[in-house]
Amino acid sequence: MEYENQYQHVPAAKYEWLLFDVDDTLYPLSSGLSKACTNNIEEFMIQKLGIEGNKVSEINRVLYKNYGTSMAGLRAVGYNFDYDEYHSFVHGRLPYENLKPDPVLRSLLLSLPIRKVIFSNGDKVHVAKVLRKLGLEDCFERVISFETLNPTNGSNTSDDEHSFQLRGLSTEILDATNFPCQSALPETPIICKPFENAFGQAFKIANINPQKTLFFDDSIRNIQTGKQIGLHTVLVGTSHRTNGADYALESIHNIREALPELWESDTKKSEGIRYSGKVAIRTSVMA
Ligand SMILES: [Mg+2]
Repeated sequence: MEYENQYQHVPAAKYEWLLFDVDDTLYPLSSGLSKACTNNIEEFMIQKLGIEGNKVSEINRVLYKNYGTSMAGLRAVGYNFDYDEYHSFVHGRLPYENLKPDPVLRSLLLSLPIRKVIFSNGDKVHVAKVLRKLGLEDCFERVISFETLNPTNGSNTSDDEHSFQLRGLSTEILDATNFPCQSALPETPIICKPFENAFGQAFKIANINPQKTLFFDDSIRNIQTGKQIGLHTVLVGTSHRTNGADYALESIHNIREALPELWESDTKKSEGIRYSGKVAIRTSVMA
């Protein structure tokens, strides 16, 4: 008790880790990468998986909604493909030139004396490229990407019967505008957000205590799972807080404004950071 009284003006750090999604979180939706990514996925579905062109948008929407990523959904309903080929097709032609160095965010991140970890469903090449384009490649101590949670040991595809049987069901499943209920969903072999096992593995790999972690993501579903398993959560991309989100930031640039307590233990360091509300909400990304 003596200890607590003596140091009551310096409470134990509320957060020891900051966990960040990448796409549409560290840069805004207006960059156009997300839209281009969706187009590329639909092109992959037509060209490589033979899905009819007039159905891909709806199928992709349903799979994305139910599985967190289109890739996880496609694998769940029985499509088999090489993960590296998928990633290079889908991410290889993205307009990365739209992403510009973001010195404001870089200063904000570097001024935070808290461990920072990336947790993305994207593949490692894509994540590295985005971080490099934004000038943030040295701001994080660890990157958890698709490959971290889905190591392939050189073989990306499997020809298991389970997968083949599901493929026979896929038309029926995919023709539905919505899956009847979550329990009826075929399982995906891919480990990704928003599924709890992805979070659990990420915590283990990065040695993270969720109760001491603030999680930033633009996906409501990811935020909701995160909240359920003990993370403190920040929904990015909107100022409207929804269920599961402890905070909501229209832009990651507003992080200091919305979460002043992050800097409280290190006020002196943060004094060197030039910041204003105006700068904070300005996007450094060319739309
Ligand atoms: Mg995202």
